[in-house]
Amino acid sequence: MTFVSLGLIEPLLQVTEQLGYKKPTPVQSQAIPAILAGRDLMASAQTGTGKTAGFALPLLHRLAIDTRPVASNAVRALVLVPTRELAEQVYESFRTYGQHLPLRYLVAYGGVSINPQMMKLRKGVDVLIATPGRLIDLYGQNAVKFNQVQTLVLDEADRMLDLGFSRELNAVFAAVPRRRQTLLFSATFSDAIRAMAGELLVNPVSIDI
Ligand code: AMP
Repeated sequence: MTFVSLGLIEPLLQVTEQLGYKKPTPVQSQAIPAILAGRDLMASAQTGTGKTAGFALPLLHRLAIDTRPVASNAVRALVLVPTRELAEQVYESFRTYGQHLPLRYLVAYGGVSINPQMMKLRKGVDVLIATPGRLIDLYGQNAVKFNQVQTLVLDEADRMLDLGFSRELNAVFAAVPRRRQTLLFSATFSDAIRAMAGELLVNPVSIDI
């Protein structure tokens, strides 16, 4: 398996080459075709497996080939993460993998001023990486609209529940379009995560690495 055989567009292949990625990791070989095909996904991949590129590359591919413009305050892909550290890390990954694409990325978490985040949302963003609490604050202030969300990613879903974000997550689930793609990553699969998966995912591809 190669990145070329996965059918990724040239600006993404260029980056994998630049970064010296010789071939897709196991999670990437399974996740990339499923995500490109528009399928929902449930994956138990841990950090260090190449999981971030496993969802970022196909998400960027789908966003790049869909030329519908993003409206003011709208978001096309929403990536929820438990902590600001992970938010920064995932944001940097999107910026790196998407460096040759004309897409807009934004990271938003609490503990810092909300105003710059609101300003950046005005033009609309293609990928918003956010912690659940700050996302709900932005939504409550009408700074972000969910009607254009085509993909929802939950990264480290178990940690989000452990940190007490279930209320915020449920508010997001209720506000995003029903017709969308959902990708759920979790290190562990407790009853709570399974229940969440059952509610959110439609005929998902399961990946266990
Ligand atoms: P992650 O599991 O997403 O935190 O990624 C772990 C590390 O693997 C990151 O430093 C990536 O740059 C690197 N990586 C991701 N995909 C590949 C690949 N296909 N080949 C080599 N390194 C990779």
